[in-house]
Amino acid sequence: MQRLYQAGDRIEAQLLSDFLHRHLVENAIFGDYLSGAIGELPANIYPSIWIVHDRDLSRARDLLRRFLDDGRREPAPSWVCRNCGELVDGSFDLCWHCGSERP
Ligand SMILES: [Zn+2]
Repeated sequence: MQRLYQAGDRIEAQLLSDFLHRHLVENAIFGDYLSGAIGELPANIYPSIWIVHDRDLSRARDLLRRFLDDGRREPAPSWVCRNCGELVDGSFDLCWHCGSERP
């Protein structure tokens, strides 16, 4: 069992854990609030992802990189429609006002 990553919070840990499971990498979350033993002062309260089988570790690291890259990807910038001049949110490929395509 090897520690792969210390997450910033429980939600990130759960997302990463699910992501790894989808790629058939067995893993476990440790060190969150629930698993902290009573009377023991944990060094931190951040959950960590542990890889169950050492043979999965290098694959898990690749998946982690992909996972983190996805999270950091900038949202597409807004664009101005050439046809009508409307400012359109970057997540749309068509102008919501007149239906023209993104230039
Ligand atoms: Zn338009």
